[in-house]
Amino acid sequence: MPHPLLPCIYVCMLFNPDIATRPQLLVIQKCLQLFIGSSPIIQLESFSNWETLVSYDHVLVAKPRSAEEGTEALDGSIRNFTSVTVAAGINQAELISELEDQGYAFPHGPMVYDVTIGGAIATASHNSIHTAPSMGGLMTRARLVDGLGNVKEFSQDADTLVMKALRCNLGLLGILFEIELRVVQQEDVIVRNVFTPLRNLFNPDFIHNTVLDNYFAMGLYAPYNSLTDEEAKSVLDTGKVPVTWNSSNDLVMLQLIRPASSHVKFTIVDERPQSAPNVTKVSVSQDAFKKELSLPAYTKVPLTRSMHFPASYFPSLMMIEYIVEDSSFAAGATALRVLSSVLNEASYKNGVQAMEEGIFKWFKGTDCLICPGSVPVGWSEQEEPVDQSYFASFHLHRRVGSPDDENRTDAFHTAMVTAWDQSGLNGLPHWGKGFQHFPNLKQRIKRGYGIDLTIFKIIRNTLDPVGVFTDDCLRRVFAEPRYY
Ligand SMILES: Cc1cc2nc3c(=O)[nH]c(=O)nc-3n(C[C@H](O)[C@H](O)[C@H](O)COP(=O)(O)OP(=O)(O)OC[C@H]3O[C@@H](n4cnc5c(N)ncnc54)[C@H](O)[C@@H]3O)c2cc1C
Repeated sequence: MPHPLLPCIYVCMLFNPDIATRPQLLVIQKCLQLFIGSSPIIQLESFSNWETLVSYDHVLVAKPRSAEEGTEALDGSIRNFTSVTVAAGINQAELISELEDQGYAFPHGPMVYDVTIGGAIATASHNSIHTAPSMGGLMTRARLVDGLGNVKEFSQDADTLVMKALRCNLGLLGILFEIELRVVQQEDVIVRNVFTPLRNLFNPDFIHNTVLDNYFAMGLYAPYNSLTDEEAKSVLDTGKVPVTWNSSNDLVMLQLIRPASSHVKFTIVDERPQSAPNVTKVSVSQDAFKKELSLPAYTKVPLTRSMHFPASYFPSLMMIEYIVEDSSFAAGATALRVLSSVLNEASYKNGVQAMEEGIFKWFKGTDCLICPGSVPVGWSEQEEPVDQSYFASFHLHRRVGSPDDENRTDAFHTAMVTAWDQSGLNGLPHWGKGFQHFPNLKQRIKRGYGIDLTIFKIIRNTLDPVGVFTDDCLRRVFAEPRYY
């Protein structure tokens, strides 16, 4: 039986409040409705973007009035998946809420609700579901305006190589305005927030079982949470962390999600403290740990409410993410052992380190040219996506602070990337986080993507031959000339 296409959601235009007042926008809304006819309905909505750089505050939205009205004809083709077609500019929260109404879910996007579908795909954003790739891997069709102003359409069935490029496009292939994405059925899930010592994650078998036994598995780690009050006072007195503290004893919060219909028992022992530790404050990470402890140990919720947070949940952050292939879960275990050992040595020598929290994820590889979660495969035109291995990502962040704090955060991030590299991990940066500070960035990217980077550049050359879609940073990374 063919699976349905869900209703289309279109967002048309954004308006800057400085150049368009509400009465003017209402006239435009009326004109558009007259031009389009009775369906879809054009609405004027306020637009909020968590990225404060964007001050635009109105958006004209065209929505079908009912599921039937927005559902496209299936054209007799048999599809073994359900998809939704959306405008690239809608955000994840809007998509999720629209899908909820239809009994579907899209759990595969990044943890923050407020990202746009176009932006999250362009930067290969991902969640922590071992059966799901980065978001672009869920894209089955796309329409874009290319560098010559032409509207082009590409689909998974007909344009294998271009789709592999579009799955992580960094905006370099044109402006995507319509995206078809695979979605899944809504269902109830159990969310467990379980605390376990970091040292348990040094064992690849522990990670293997945790990741593969659950639908979703993610680690949140706020360091220094095992410091005693006496040790914390000694930090204030000496400026150094005493050697009696060891990060391997700190607790990591594992967020584990399973379908409520699953009968498999959660086996990890929960070492959640009875109450939040009352320890002298020496690091912002202690607040992050208290926030983790405030999350309930057990909840049963719909899938769409189980794993995303509003951007307002997070302070303004400096962050990096180091992504490695982790087919046997040994690389992830090594990365965490190295993180622990760098934290220990640096803390004993120089005091509390500039790390507020780490987020560890495991996800499926993507058949993509420049996703950090993909294995380079060269000129493969086979229609079925190449089955990729597992990838692990290690995100580190600290809130934005004084210039001195920010220098310390940059230095800690560089030290961590260097230590991970030296342990042979060959990680690649997340394109949507602070990748500019990765040591040897150009060579790292060239080495990491190999022939796939060349193929990406060839595809870019056909879609945007004069380099309309780029910026200084990407021009440097991809060694591209400035055309004008
Ligand atoms: C608090 C926070 C939490 C996060 N959590 C996660 C996480 O859990 N997992 C994860 O993987 N990432 C995560 N990220 C990273 C985030 O997913 C990416 O930064 C993502 O790009 C943000 O989407 P955006 O809509 O803000 O994109 P923007 O910053 O607006 O765009 C990113 C780039 O995408 C391109 N682009 C945007 N729209 C289009 C379009 N229509 N056509 C072509 N190109 C386009 C542009 O080149 C642009 O530079 C997080 C970021 C923050 C700030």
